Amino acid sequence: MHPQQKAELVKVTVFLVLAAGIGGLFGQSLLFLVLTLLAYTIYQLRNTFRLHNWLLGQSEEPPHAQGYWGEIFNEIFLVEKGKRKNRRRLKKVLSRFQEAAEVLPYGTIILTKSNDIDWVNQSACTMLGIDAEKDVGQRIYNLIRHPKFQKYLTEKNYSKSIILPRPMYPEHQLEIQIVPFGSNQKLILCRDVTHIAQLEAMRSRFISNVSHELRSPLTVIKGYVEMLTDNDADQTLSGYQRKVTDNMSDQVSRMDRLVEDLLTLTKLETESVKPSEEADVASMLAAIRDNAEVFGKDKHQKITLETDDQLQLIGDNDELTSLFSNLVNNAVRYTPDNGEISIRWYEQNDQAVFSVTDTGPGIEREHIGHLTERFYRVDSDRSRETGGTGLGLSIVKHVLDRHDGKLDITSTPGKGSTFICRFSPQRVVKK
Ligand code: ADP
Repeated sequence: MHPQQKAELVKVTVFLVLAAGIGGLFGQSLLFLVLTLLAYTIYQLRNTFRLHNWLLGQSEEPPHAQGYWGEIFNEIFLVEKGKRKNRRRLKKVLSRFQEAAEVLPYGTIILTKSNDIDWVNQSACTMLGIDAEKDVGQRIYNLIRHPKFQKYLTEKNYSKSIILPRPMYPEHQLEIQIVPFGSNQKLILCRDVTHIAQLEAMRSRFISNVSHELRSPLTVIKGYVEMLTDNDADQTLSGYQRKVTDNMSDQVSRMDRLVEDLLTLTKLETESVKPSEEADVASMLAAIRDNAEVFGKDKHQKITLETDDQLQLIGDNDELTSLFSNLVNNAVRYTPDNGEISIRWYEQNDQAVFSVTDTGPGIEREHIGHLTERFYRVDSDRSRETGGTGLGLSIVKHVLDRHDGKLDITSTPGKGSTFICRFSPQRVVKK
């Protein structure tokens, strides 16, 4: 027991004994005891009320009291003082955070669980045309009405950001990223990326122009080289000259492929997604397999094809052909003679899946994440020897992005690799 509590008990006992004693002198012990208890109860009640009033009034200073109640008031005062100090500190931190968030160049919106605006900063108001006073508490999808945003919000796949035209200024581009936090709350970050988009467009235009410009001189050189090599039936070229013309022919073909791949890539980057058609992937793969057999005819590989003929995909035929043939041709190019390549097209968990497995050299784990970068090669010499441009898997990635697809690569060095493309259920059609 706390010493103050002991002292209070002793005090009450002494009062009661004294009351009983003094009352005994007058033959009224019980009456004196009752009166003392009554006085004590009134004293306790009075202090309880004072405590309550103080707590209700929230005045800084506690009521003045002696003894046990003085101690209680003091204890509560100290606890309250500590809390008040903490509250003031928190308020300061919060307002500092709000001030900082307010002047951030990034638009910031905090959403509640039900996607209502909880807080919004000035930049977000300017970029998205939100009124900080009127729109707090409004559903976000009533304010950002672009279908791409509505899809992004409801699909709940927030690993990537999206680009939207700025409301009222469609020539401006906004990048929007949703970040979930806390219990089902969301933070929306947005920034104006018009400048970056313009630079990107400039870069793509430049590559496209250079590639187009290179096409004509290349066609001329190619023609001359072919003329030299094809018209040598009577063997007028010396061994050395033959070697040189063959080498020229190889390099010109390589440049030709590079230009074609660069043009394909810029097209994929800059052109908007074409209206989709139903692609008969099974027939497409049969043709790609036939081409692959011709392409690798000297390697004596075993190429197997297994397809679900009923499974079709909504997409662009040319782009899908480019995607699948890049992966199949890579398998043929990297798999050594007499190796095996298996191509499959099947349905799994409502998704359409394309896979190509080879018994090639495989790829070390650290390279896998980089393979879709332009000109990334695990082994540059092997890539060049086999006629690679270093752009095939970048094209694959772009086509997949435009078809709601995902690329998975699994590989065991020395044993082989599997490239898997998964297409989301909304792209799948069963005949
Ligand atoms: P490249 O024209 O050089 O083949 P890609 O973009 O098609 O360019 O491929 C990038 C790199 O990925 C290649 O250089 C190669 O190192 C590796 N790669 C691609 N496919 C395979 C495969 N089937 N087996 C082993 N390595 C591969």
